[in-house]
Amino acid sequence: MAELIDGKSVAEDVVRRVKALVAELAEKGGRQPGLAVVIVGEDPASQVYVASKSRTAKECGFHSVQHTLPVETSEPDLLKIIGQLNADPAINGILVQLPLPGHIDAGKVIQTIAPEKDVDGFHFINVGKLGTGELETAFVPCTPAGSMLLIERVRGKDLSGLNAVVVGRSNIVGKPMANLLLAANCTVTIAHSRTRDLPALAGTADILVAAVGRPEMVRGDWVKPGATVIDVGINRIAAPEKGEGKTRLVGDVEFAEAAKAAGAITPVPGGVGPMTIAMLMANTLASAYLAAGLKRPSF
Ligand code: NAP
Repeated sequence: MAELIDGKSVAEDVVRRVKALVAELAEKGGRQPGLAVVIVGEDPASQVYVASKSRTAKECGFHSVQHTLPVETSEPDLLKIIGQLNADPAINGILVQLPLPGHIDAGKVIQTIAPEKDVDGFHFINVGKLGTGELETAFVPCTPAGSMLLIERVRGKDLSGLNAVVVGRSNIVGKPMANLLLAANCTVTIAHSRTRDLPALAGTADILVAAVGRPEMVRGDWVKPGATVIDVGINRIAAPEKGEGKTRLVGDVEFAEAAKAAGAITPVPGGVGPMTIAMLMANTLASAYLAAGLKRPSF
């Protein structure tokens, strides 16, 4: 059976380290890191995410600000708030919870966030820095950054000579994940919905990352023996065995099958999921260190 990669415990380690580094920053004369989370509308899932981000920010010792705006907020009004947060020295990180209502251009909003406060890593400047290997100052999207930390726990920081296959090419997960693996010297293949013979391709992977959004698509016989399997997927499916109308969370990987072949594997829930918020805290801390003219801490 594969080693279970405990994302919950690694995420707790990250949050503990962030807390300690907040205290160190104060000793060095830096100011308290500040995170602003902006949410437009009342999507229940988004509200849960935002509450959890604000709670963890407080736990880390950050100055935490939440802007909860009505669904009818206009694009110019939202851009004005972003402009104010860009100019506010007490704020190091700005996160706009997606999705935004249809009348607001999410791309325009993201590109309005100052790149040095773009702790989600979605601004073109940060995307370009990651793509060109400028990792000292880039903000990397939180989910792939967290996945990378989990991979490093199993394989170390230098992945020279290993083949990685990333299934999924989204801007939020697949592409930044592939860039991080490339920067760590993997030979990287990105697969997507038009890829031919995905099971055979997946079978070449020493590191297999699934970021697809299709419940349990990756089967056990796709997994190379001993591979490290990172399951980014979060899918809610019906669970009639738990009672009528009940549901459960599964990943993009058929866990029980894949765990028999893999060397190490992330569970869902409790794998990549908890890492996303932890890395948001790490990015906000990094922004505060850079704003104080200090080297950003590594994780
Ligand atoms: P996305 O934007 O929908 O992208 C999905 C990718 O999967 C696309 O590139 C798509 O290919 C590819 N794909 C779809 N069907 C495929 C198939 N049959 N074979 C191969 N590739 C296929 O999704 P995302 O935002 O990257 O998210 C992926 C999963 O990660 C979702 O389950 C999401 O909930 C989860 N997620 C988790 C976290 C977290 O843990 N905190 C954060 C973000 C996302 P095309 O490009 O060709 O369409």
